[in-house]
Amino acid sequence: MPVAHPRSIGELTELLDEESHTVLLAGGTDFMVGLNHGSTRLAPDDLIVDLRLVAELSTVEVDYQQQVLRLGAGVRWDDLLTAPIAEIAPCLSQAARTVGSHQIRTAGTIGGNLATASPAGDGVCALVALDATLVLTSSRGQRTVAVSEFAIAPKKNVLERDEFIERVDIPITEGWQGYSKIGTRNAMVISVAGVAVVLSSESNTCRIALGSVGPTVILSTEASQFAGTTINWEIASITSADLETVVEMTRASATPIDDHRSTAAYRKHAVGVLTKRLIEQGLTTLRKSL
Ligand SMILES: Cc1cc2nc3c(=O)[nH]c(=O)nc-3n(C[C@H](O)[C@H](O)[C@H](O)COP(=O)(O)OP(=O)(O)OC[C@H]3O[C@@H](n4cnc5c(N)ncnc54)[C@H](O)[C@@H]3O)c2cc1C
Repeated sequence: MPVAHPRSIGELTELLDEESHTVLLAGGTDFMVGLNHGSTRLAPDDLIVDLRLVAELSTVEVDYQQQVLRLGAGVRWDDLLTAPIAEIAPCLSQAARTVGSHQIRTAGTIGGNLATASPAGDGVCALVALDATLVLTSSRGQRTVAVSEFAIAPKKNVLERDEFIERVDIPITEGWQGYSKIGTRNAMVISVAGVAVVLSSESNTCRIALGSVGPTVILSTEASQFAGTTINWEIASITSADLETVVEMTRASATPIDDHRSTAAYRKHAVGVLTKRLIEQGLTTLRKSL
């Protein structure tokens, strides 16, 4: 099987423009599982394009002027655990900490997690709550797509054949963020349910994202808006009744299924519990800094 090793975004873009049968390979932690299980099949004329030598894909840039953290698609889980990402986007770091094992976190990338388009993608859930945007690149130029609109079904995303994810742009915001997931055991586990909450004390808004409870990661829009308007941001507090309404709205936005990992009923229950805990934890932390 032929393998190409482009060394720059320019070389990669040109290659994807010229070759019509290409398969992108980053850390291989999803790709190889698919190949071994037979869900990914390669044709003899497929060209595997190894992304690991494209230096621009591994860059981390903090732009305080534009208030944005830019992460190349090839940034690995282990890199997400360290500064500046852990300080600017702690919920993404918390999500990264829950992924697989040390070996998986050393090889797997955020771009691969996004492109796999699994509703259980821990990084995806955090990035939806963070209101992050993707820069998709091809020889036709660049376009931006919200992470919340990138996956359209399990294992399906909006990438065109010759496009790749170049980077993820994460808005820098003051406030609090958290990610929490439930699995069938404590480590090396795909989530049964996952929730990311971002409380922005700059814009007085809340974003709640739900993983593993629908065909794609869900932005719980109604619950987010209700929380944003009912939280008293001056004292970082919400009434018990309003918090219960947020919890019920979160559950209502989930569309889980029964499968080998859990039941739909448990998943709905779980996202409510996780959302409540995260909002309480966030508001308690914000109150301490008033
Ligand atoms: C044992 C094990 C445990 C795991 N645990 C978790 C977990 O707890 N949580 C979780 O979310 N995931 C988990 N995963 C899944 C996996 O590690 C992640 O989804 C990982 O981030 C995929 O990245 P990668 O670089 O390995 O992608 P690859 O396997 O190389 O690629 C995955 C897909 O993305 C495409 N792709 C890669 N980069 C790009 C790009 N820049 N542009 C366009 N397409 C691209 C590839 O063509 C391929 O289709 C686990 C996997 C294993 C094997």
